[in-house]
Amino acid sequence: MVNKTCSKCRQAKPLDEYNKGKGRFGKIAVCKSCSKERNKASIDRRRANLMSLPRYLTEEQEVSIFEHFNNSCALTGLKDKLCLDHFVPLDWGVTPLKYGLGGTTFPNMIPFHISINSAKNAMNPVMLFERYGEKYNISADRWNAALKYLAEKNGLSVADYTNRVNACYMEVQSDRWATGINKKVETNGEIVGWEIERALRRNLNIQVVIELFGTSKTKDYFRTTKVSEMIARRKFEMEVRQSKVKRNLVEITKEVERLLVEYRKRNQ
Ligand SMILES: [Zn+2]
Repeated sequence: MVNKTCSKCRQAKPLDEYNKGKGRFGKIAVCKSCSKERNKASIDRRRANLMSLPRYLTEEQEVSIFEHFNNSCALTGLKDKLCLDHFVPLDWGVTPLKYGLGGTTFPNMIPFHISINSAKNAMNPVMLFERYGEKYNISADRWNAALKYLAEKNGLSVADYTNRVNACYMEVQSDRWATGINKKVETNGEIVGWEIERALRRNLNIQVVIELFGTSKTKDYFRTTKVSEMIARRKFEMEVRQSKVKRNLVEITKEVERLLVEYRKRNQ
């Protein structure tokens, strides 16, 4: 029988313990019980965020937003299945407040077709639509017009607004990643390669994130040679994968060993 390891609980479980999806074996990466827990947690978080974050949207403002976009989706122009969406997601918690962003507020609301709304989810809309706009049938003109509208409502230039959203997202990601790491280190768990890779994939500067969000125990843990080496190794492995240079495993291993020797020398 084929088993698949859940990316959340890391347990190997039979395939029927997973919902259908785009992952390996045609299933999603997270097992059914973990998905259920995650969905519930996400609904709870959304509700809590909706209540605790600023809500200053009047009915007149709501009407004026829809009017501005001709009662159609700001990005696709579709006129059906519209929802008034939070551009900076509620899911980002209180961090956006520091950046003067987010909440159920006039400058953060925009009409999206339901497909755009669910594609965006809790992701960074700026990165998502700039990179994958075509996939969602978003024209560059509509995207630029939507950004201009949002930036203006936020009293910023387009460049300042997008920079701020990106910086905010970076902080949200850093905070979340470090929270998980802190929890694990607190309970004397070992940090493993994929947890490091998760941060690297998000372009987080691990040393900086640990300095900013790590507990003193986490900071000590990350100062050990073992962890520093693991980070260096993962970084290198990812670079090799990304460069798409096809080298055989022996060569890669040799190179990693060489770099580690170099790294140790430098840190002596
Ligand atoms: Zn699981």
